[in-house]
Amino acid sequence: MSHKPQYAEVVVEIANRKVDRPFHYEIPAQLQEAVKPGVRVLVPFGNRELDGYVVGLVPRADVTGTKPILAVREGEPVISAELLQLARWMALYYMCPLVTVLQAFFPRTSGAGKKLIQEWCSLEPDVTIGTILSIRKRAPKQAAILEQLQQAGPFLVPHLLNITGADRRSLMSLVNKGVVRIDELEAAPAAEPVSALQEPPELTGEQERVLAAIKPKLAPPQYEVFLLHGVTGSGKTEVYFRCLSEVITSGYQAIVLFPEISLTTHLIERFYRRFGSQVEVLHSGLPLKQRIMTLERIAAGNVSIVVGTRSAVFAPVPRLGLIIIDEEHENSYQQEVTPKYHAREVAIVRAFLNKAPLVLGSATPSLESYHKAREGKFSLLKMGNRVEHKQMPKVLVTDLRRELKEGNETLFSNLLKEKLQERLQEKEQSILFLNRRGYANLVNCRDCGQVIKCKYCDVSLTYYATKKVLKCNYCGYTRPVPMECPECGGNRVRPLGAGTEKVEKELLSLFPQARVVRIDSDTVRKKGDYERLLGIFENKLADVMIGTQMVAKGLDFPGVTLVGVILADQMLNFPDFRARERSFQLLTQVAGRAGRGTGLGEVVVQTYIPEDPTVLAAADHDYERFFAEEIKLRRLMGYPPYSHLIRILVTGKQEELCETGSRVIADRINRYRGNAGAVLLGPTPAPLTKIKNNYRWQLILKGEDIKKMRQLVSVSLREAAQGGSLPRGIRLNLDIDPLGML
Ligand code: ADP
Ligand code: ZN
Repeated sequence: MSHKPQYAEVVVEIANRKVDRPFHYEIPAQLQEAVKPGVRVLVPFGNRELDGYVVGLVPRADVTGTKPILAVREGEPVISAELLQLARWMALYYMCPLVTVLQAFFPRTSGAGKKLIQEWCSLEPDVTIGTILSIRKRAPKQAAILEQLQQAGPFLVPHLLNITGADRRSLMSLVNKGVVRIDELEAAPAAEPVSALQEPPELTGEQERVLAAIKPKLAPPQYEVFLLHGVTGSGKTEVYFRCLSEVITSGYQAIVLFPEISLTTHLIERFYRRFGSQVEVLHSGLPLKQRIMTLERIAAGNVSIVVGTRSAVFAPVPRLGLIIIDEEHENSYQQEVTPKYHAREVAIVRAFLNKAPLVLGSATPSLESYHKAREGKFSLLKMGNRVEHKQMPKVLVTDLRRELKEGNETLFSNLLKEKLQERLQEKEQSILFLNRRGYANLVNCRDCGQVIKCKYCDVSLTYYATKKVLKCNYCGYTRPVPMECPECGGNRVRPLGAGTEKVEKELLSLFPQARVVRIDSDTVRKKGDYERLLGIFENKLADVMIGTQMVAKGLDFPGVTLVGVILADQMLNFPDFRARERSFQLLTQVAGRAGRGTGLGEVVVQTYIPEDPTVLAAADHDYERFFAEEIKLRRLMGYPPYSHLIRILVTGKQEELCETGSRVIADRINRYRGNAGAVLLGPTPAPLTKIKNNYRWQLILKGEDIKKMRQLVSVSLREAAQGGSLPRGIRLNLDIDPLGML
């Protein structure tokens, strides 16, 4: 034991780029045992005491006069070597301080925590079927509890109540009868051999084929990324379940990610029914205490399957055997605050470091992922049919230009009116969908339907009504609103768009008897509004629901047989190079709302450009065709997946300073840009020009070599700061591979 490390490398919790490096601290004798990489410690820093993380141990310090670590935070989860490695990669790739990544891994507790005790409920060993049957007759809620325990073994009390819908009184009366017991424990009690969990269904041919392709990489786990492209309703979840069984029976743990919006009780229930108490759910809505408790159980290896949202990708499972990401194309996998990571990219790295397989599932894969599959970097698996041969909904596209020519100036085409009429007569439900994002004001030509675009960036120009100009959010190109359409010469170039309120008004004037609920930011104001309005529709107390993207996803109403998209053009021309991709995804999803039940669903899409290839591909449920078109455009314009983007956002209270700062940075970047082979767009005000009294300017760097681009940015920022020409009072924010650029 001669070379015992004497010093710890510590990153401290302080929001300042300048101290984004480890500092050396002495390890006092009494802390020799406790100090190891991944623990959280208290250290002196300047004239303060700060929390920090030990990220390494070294025999020598790089400076003299080091200070000692003051304390090790007791009862905090230790970050494993594996996760430390992941954190280092993230800090490097996303150009953010290592400490912010470590903070994202575990929620912060101020001060030391005690071990937390949880209540576990289990069946008393000698309960007979007779008892259960007699309880079932008299007390259905209690019976539900018993059934759950019988099927899935011991349960955390809150979970149990959640699943069964029973209240604590029912539970306590079972305890009093001596049928179940509650123990206060730190970890799950030894599970009884799990008897009758839900029986898996027999797989369809497609499911069999897909599973056979994944299986060889599951036990023992090997690194490989699978992209499972399966239409909605093709039974992807069942494939996930089979993979999970395989992995956990061989003693490994798995992580399953869902987008925030689809992690519903219904879905969680499906997991519990299949895997019982081997499942834990992690999402940001959990109270802090409970989240830490759950993380500790996971770190101890007591949880086989972690189901969660974005941040569950950091779940500290000790033997990672599989990661699954459902709806991998969803935006909510991107974190909007530092560390601005994308859970899919992190998952790829984590899977690689652990030699574990990763399964990405989607009905509409991201262009990035599908491109990688085409290049052979991911293994592509397909399921093209719905389980039990259910039909895909029928999508009809109507031409608003023609309606206008025929004198119909309302928001409702004749076709949509007709279909609504039918539904109201048959007492079936409809959803009217409107894509609306406040700032994106566009103009289009009412004769040819085209929206005016930037000649450099291939994104729509945004209309600024006060100055009556059109402007590109990427490069800053500005022009007046043309009197004549540059495409067809038509003279009716007009602002585009409609609000939900107007839709409601027109709908009621067409169908005064219709019962309507409107769900948008006006009607959803306080907590509970959203659920209440959905409840009205769900219970069939309304015939038509009008909504924004809030209603597009994750909702499942069997009574809906018609979906109307009021104006597809707004989303198609959203000023972002991903607008077509988002539209395809959204149209597919919206269409998936229709005909969930037994009947065949119909979708009416209204647009000024009915010949638009994206709309037509979505109408035909043809992802391949959409991809082929879109990838050509991406290549042509040099957008991802053919390039990387870095956005530099400059914010501050004074707009002139943001502008000056942006220009100073642009200067530096332009000086060195050649070596990195990158293009600089801007500086220009960001589309959201001001948030909470802070002005916002942005620069977008576009190039193929992300390593060189990162270097270029850090050198430029450093020199701009050192040169003294960067004004005070501005803040810089970096986005690597941003998904949106508002
Ligand atoms: P996806 O996630 O691909 O949209 P789901 O996994 O939700 O599809 O499956 C759709 C429906 O089909 C679910 O109700 C599911 O229980 C059912 N299902 C899946 N696989 C089978 C199967 N092999 N046999 C019968 N029903 C199945
Ligand atoms: Zn432009």
